[in-house]
Amino acid sequence: MNKLKSVLLLIAFIVGTPIFAHVGGHDSENSEIFYLKGKQIEGHFLMAKNDKIFIELLNGKTISAPLTDFSFSNQSNLSQKIAHLKKLNLDKNLVETKESILSFILFLLSILLIVIFIGFNFREVNSFAKFSYFFLTFFIFIYACKTSEIVTPTTISKTDPTFIETVFSPFKTLVKTRFDDTYFYVESEGLLSHNMMVGITNWQQQVPIPQGYSGANAWLIPLKPELSDSPLSLKTNLMKGAVAIAPNGVPIFNPLNNRGEDAYAIGELDQWGGHCGKADDYHYHIAPLHFETTAGKNPIAMALDGFAIYGSKEPDGSTMQTLDSYHGHSINNGVYHYHATTTYPYFIGSMRGKITLDPSTTAPENQLIPQAKTTPLRPAGEPLKGASITNFKSTGTNAYSLEYTVGSQKGFINYSWDAANKYTYTFIGIDGKSSTSTYVRK
Ligand SMILES: [Zn+2]
Ligand SMILES: [Zn+2]
Repeated sequence: MNKLKSVLLLIAFIVGTPIFAHVGGHDSENSEIFYLKGKQIEGHFLMAKNDKIFIELLNGKTISAPLTDFSFSNQSNLSQKIAHLKKLNLDKNLVETKESILSFILFLLSILLIVIFIGFNFREVNSFAKFSYFFLTFFIFIYACKTSEIVTPTTISKTDPTFIETVFSPFKTLVKTRFDDTYFYVESEGLLSHNMMVGITNWQQQVPIPQGYSGANAWLIPLKPELSDSPLSLKTNLMKGAVAIAPNGVPIFNPLNNRGEDAYAIGELDQWGGHCGKADDYHYHIAPLHFETTAGKNPIAMALDGFAIYGSKEPDGSTMQTLDSYHGHSINNGVYHYHATTTYPYFIGSMRGKITLDPSTTAPENQLIPQAKTTPLRPAGEPLKGASITNFKSTGTNAYSLEYTVGSQKGFINYSWDAANKYTYTFIGIDGKSSTSTYVRK
């Protein structure tokens, strides 16, 4: 019987060759935490097959889900493992071609053995030999028919829209989001979750008003970001328009203003890293690191090339690793992401992802498209020499008062808008003189 046992074991080994990335072990040792559609699970990565990731849970059960259903940091780790398997599979493909020829030969052999078994008189042969002959034939047949399971490498082709939703979810009252197969859409008025304007010492007399970034004028984040072969430097490009979007639906522009100056360094920005453009459109010029408080481990912004911008920590909460010259990195061959810092280039050195340039613009004042539009309501303001903004407050529904100081004198812009989109601005100069202008947004 020992002989039979060894034969059976050998056959079982041949037939049941495992193709798993990880064998067995229902213990929690070396297990990983996965976040699947926001739900926490613990287990081991088994394999990637037919665009799905298979995880063996601690209770021994196996579950499968598309890679994009996992959290961003899980995707990074899993794609590293898949890349490793992919390399192994390249060698495996050659073996598989040889295997299929072998299978065919074995299939013919097993048919022949069956014919011999039926056609010959085995009465004279002892029962062990008969038994062995029968099992040998049977298992050659099984092995011939066995189809190898192929581990298919999966590549990240699409960002999980629910991952981007988490970036904007702390500001649900200000931001509406939606998505289709190509883009994630961010709708907002570009108005704020925090105070604005205070701290600006280099001001062009613009004030924040709603911008109507909605419907066809929403901000668009590509859901299938692709690495560019020649990332565009923000030092020489994209000084017009936004390059990223903050969690509160406020756009983030190049750290350099449209004259190529570091907007932050020359006092153009408020305490939150923003100011208003010629359309009275509030926007940031540096990555708003203050969103780290509400973002937790989520990104603090999304770049318009589709890659995320994290704060001072890695997605898993660990210390930020070394950044490349584009101001980001791809840890363990995971999805690329940027990081925000307190010094230039603040958040993006070059656009790591592929972008489309607006053909009607030229470098350095070119802009990427698609881009939400702003339309000026009133003639652009002039720089007000020596003025610094010392207060900004709401004075009622859709009404604000901005206070600025020149020397020891104060001036104000008091403004409001109504349901008919009529905007009223009252300018009170440091000489006390007052004038009012009204404009209607069409
Ligand atoms: Zn600006
Ligand atoms: Zn990082």
